[in-house]
Amino acid sequence: MKLRLAIVGAGPAGIYAADILLKQERAFDVSIDLFERLPAPYGLVRYGVAPDHPRIKGIINALRDVLDRGDIRIFGNVNFGTDVTLDDLKQHYHAVIFSTGAVRDAPLGIEGVDLDGSYGAADFVNWFDGHPDVPRTWPLEAREIAVLGNGNVALDVARMLVKHPEDLLPTEIPDNVYDGLAASPVTDVHVFGRRGPAQVKFTPLELRELGELRDVDMILHDEDFDYDDASKAAVASNKQVMVIDRVLQAWRKRETGSASRRLHLHFYAKPLGLVDDGTGKVSAFRYERTRPDGEGGVEGTGEIREIPIQAFYRAVGYFGSPLDGVPFDEEHGVIPNHEGQVLHSESNEIVPGVYATGWIKRGPVGLIGHTKSDAMETISHLVSDQSNWWSPSHPDEESVEALLTERGVRFTTLDGWHRLDEHELSLGTERGRERVKVVPREEMVEVSLGGADPVVDAPTVDA
Ligand SMILES: Cc1cc2nc3c(=O)[nH]c(=O)nc-3n(C[C@H](O)[C@H](O)[C@H](O)COP(=O)(O)OP(=O)(O)OC[C@H]3O[C@@H](n4cnc5c(N)ncnc54)[C@H](O)[C@@H]3O)c2cc1C
Repeated sequence: MKLRLAIVGAGPAGIYAADILLKQERAFDVSIDLFERLPAPYGLVRYGVAPDHPRIKGIINALRDVLDRGDIRIFGNVNFGTDVTLDDLKQHYHAVIFSTGAVRDAPLGIEGVDLDGSYGAADFVNWFDGHPDVPRTWPLEAREIAVLGNGNVALDVARMLVKHPEDLLPTEIPDNVYDGLAASPVTDVHVFGRRGPAQVKFTPLELRELGELRDVDMILHDEDFDYDDASKAAVASNKQVMVIDRVLQAWRKRETGSASRRLHLHFYAKPLGLVDDGTGKVSAFRYERTRPDGEGGVEGTGEIREIPIQAFYRAVGYFGSPLDGVPFDEEHGVIPNHEGQVLHSESNEIVPGVYATGWIKRGPVGLIGHTKSDAMETISHLVSDQSNWWSPSHPDEESVEALLTERGVRFTTLDGWHRLDEHELSLGTERGRERVKVVPREEMVEVSLGGADPVVDAPTVDA
C-alpha cells in the first residue's frame, strides 16, 4: 500500500508535516505532493518574518534541507480552489492536509478604520517582505503614527516604521522598501495596548530590540506602571513577564530628548476610533483609558483621549481564509478540527480524508517551532486513520502533472525553486548582498521554468 498524500501550503507547517510523515515508522509507503500558491516555498518565513531578523529567516535553511532531500514533490504557483479543487484531490490522493496559514489581517470594528491612512499590519508586512501580489509602493507620509496591538507583529511594524533605514541596509531589506522608508518623514510612532505592561504578548527578545534602535528614544508613562496586585503577581511568578518588566523599567530611567525619532509605548488604552480630517484622511486616534479590574483584565475609566496621527496600523492578529469545499469557522478564521482531523462545521463529524495543520488549524498564534508539534499531532491522526482515507481513481504520480498541464497551469517544481533560489543568490552576489529577491510573480515563474533570459532588470528587490 502506498499513501498518496496532498499537502496544500508550503509554509513551515506543511513542510514539517511532510518531513514528520516521511520519517515516521509506518506500515505503508508514502508519496507526497506539496501544492503552493506562490512560486516560492516557506510561507510567512519568507513573507512575514521581518528582514532585520536574519536569525529567524535562517530557519529557511532547515526547511530547505527537508525539500532538498528530494522525496517530496512541489507544485508551486498552484492555487487550491482555482487551479486544483477538492474533487480533483479526491481523484488523485488518499488524503489531504491543509496548511494554508493565515495571511490577512483580522478585522477591527472601530469607527474610521476605513479612512485613508489606516492600514492592516499584514499588508504592510507583505510590502516590506517583497510579496509578489502586493503593490511595490507604500504611502509613508505620516510624521506621527499609531500602531495598535501588543504582540510581536505590532513590534515588527513599529520597529520597521521608526528605524532609520540606513540601519536596515545590511539586512535583506528590498530596494523599493528602503527607498520608501528613506522618504518617510516619521518622527513619532505610538504603540497602544488595551492592557498593562504585565499583560503584553511581546516576547522579551523582540521587545529588547526596540531599546537598541539608533537615534530613537523609548518613551514610557509613569501612569502605566502603578501595578495592581494581579500585575505584581504576574511579574513575580512568570519569568517572561519579569524580564519584560525589567526591560521596561530600565527604559523608564533612561535620559530622553536627544533622539530625532521617538517610540512611545502606551498601555491601558482601549481603541474607540479614528478621527476624519474632513477629507477622508486619518487625523487622530481616539481611545478610552482603561484600568486593571483586579483579575488580570481591564475595565474602562470613561476618560476619552485623542492623539494626533496621520497614519494608523492595526496589528490585532492575522486571520485564516476559507478554502473551497472545506469547512471553515468564520468566527475564529480556522478550519474546524479535532487535533488536526477536520470536522464538519455544524455536525462536528469527521470529514474523511481531510486534515489541517499550522495556523489554519489552531489560529494565528505561536512561533514557527510550534508548527512542528502541530504537525506531529495531525500526522499521528492521519497515520492511524486509514479507514477514512479516500479511494482515488488515479493514484499514479504522472496524472497530477497531466491534469495541471491540461489546465494550462504554469506550475513550478523543486528544480524550478532551485533555479529561482540560485538566481536570487547570484543577483545578491553581484550586489554584495546575500540575496536579491525576485518580486513580480511572472518573473519568479519565468526564472523557475528556466526562461531563456530572465528579465533581471525588471523590478527585483533585495530579500
Ligand atoms: C509578521 C510576522 C512575523 C513573524 N515573525 C516570527 C518570528 O520572528 N519568529 C517565529 O518563530 N515566528 C514568527 N512568525 C510566526 C510564523 O510565521 C508562523 O508561526 C508560521 O509561519 C505559521 O506557519 P504555517 O505554515 O501555518 O503558515 P504560513 O507560513 O502562512 O504558510 C502557509 C502557506 O500556504 C500557502 N497557501 C495559502 N493559501 C493557499 C491556497 N489556496 N493554495 C495553495 N497554497 C496556499 C501560502 O502561500 C503559504 O506559503 C511571524 C508571523 C508574522 C505574521
